[in-house]
Amino acid sequence: MISAPFDYVRANTLDEALNLLAQNEDAKILAGGHSLIPAMKLRLTQPPLLVDIARIKDLSYIREADGQIRIGAMTTHYQIESSELLRKICPLLPECAGHIGDMQVRNKGTIGGSLAHSDPAGDWPAAILALSAELVAVSKNGERTIKADDFFVDLLTTALEPGEILREIRINKSNGRTGQAYVKMPHPASGFAVVGVAANLSFNGGSECKSASIGITGVSSKAYRATAVEGGLSGANLDEAKIANAASHATDGVDVNGDVFASDEYRRHLAQVYARRAIAAARDRA
Ligand SMILES: Cc1cc2nc3c(=O)[nH]c(=O)nc-3n(C[C@H](O)[C@H](O)[C@H](O)COP(=O)(O)OP(=O)(O)OC[C@H]3O[C@@H](n4cnc5c(N)ncnc54)[C@H](O)[C@@H]3O)c2cc1C
Repeated sequence: MISAPFDYVRANTLDEALNLLAQNEDAKILAGGHSLIPAMKLRLTQPPLLVDIARIKDLSYIREADGQIRIGAMTTHYQIESSELLRKICPLLPECAGHIGDMQVRNKGTIGGSLAHSDPAGDWPAAILALSAELVAVSKNGERTIKADDFFVDLLTTALEPGEILREIRINKSNGRTGQAYVKMPHPASGFAVVGVAANLSFNGGSECKSASIGITGVSSKAYRATAVEGGLSGANLDEAKIANAASHATDGVDVNGDVFASDEYRRHLAQVYARRAIAAARDRA
């Protein structure tokens, strides 16, 4: 299909982009275009103006500052997948990036675009939740920080307000012994997550789990923290029985999606199986 007609402006600076958004209420940011353009072609959205932020140089970076990892919103999936720094200090991010689409999608698509899109089957939200990230949004009125737990509101809906641009993702660097893993059952046609589970565990000296953060995507209208699973892991020695028991709570309190590919019952089962696998993998890597 062909999209409805629209105007296009390439912003050269963040200020220019923010001004354009402030002047055009229904304008949309264009990042990698790998979710927005398909949605426009299907006429699910018909923005009158696209503000292209792809050429704004200071939105694409991976760096360390003040004990945090800071990632610019326009950083591509591939840049994260191939970052040696992230492999060392936060391997969950490159691992998650490697699960997204194919090479073309990873070369163009951005972490900021994916988070702002909040696709219920997108991979990044699970990892960002498990890492308790903070998301920095900027508008003409200034800057604010949104916790990942508060960012994903519903299907394709985030806490970003009109006129705001997601500028940066911040993740506290972990101390001590930690283990991380992302596992996913991809939809065989689209590659999106039928179920994706990110696990971020920290340990005391032995095998006792000090804290656990589990993010799950693909299962419901938005990605979520599996708090009931986390509760079953914290303070426990993570043997197979403990992990299986905790993982059996992967969809507690969650309205599970069902569709022609995976019924709600099947998805619930997959969430438990993939939660178990992610936790075991994270434990074994710690
Ligand atoms: C064939 C194919 C396969 C894919 N497979 C997967 C997959 O397996 N897993 C997965 O997670 N994703 C997958 N994707 C989606 C892909 O990851 C997209 O790149 C991503 O979802 C959107 O990023 P983008 O940079 O392309 O954003 P765009 O498409 O440009 O924008 C998406 C939305 O976010 C808004 N936006 C973008 N950047 C910002 C910002 N900085 N601040 C505020 N709003 C912003 C836009 O206005 C738009 O509403 C796939 C896409 C395709 C085409």
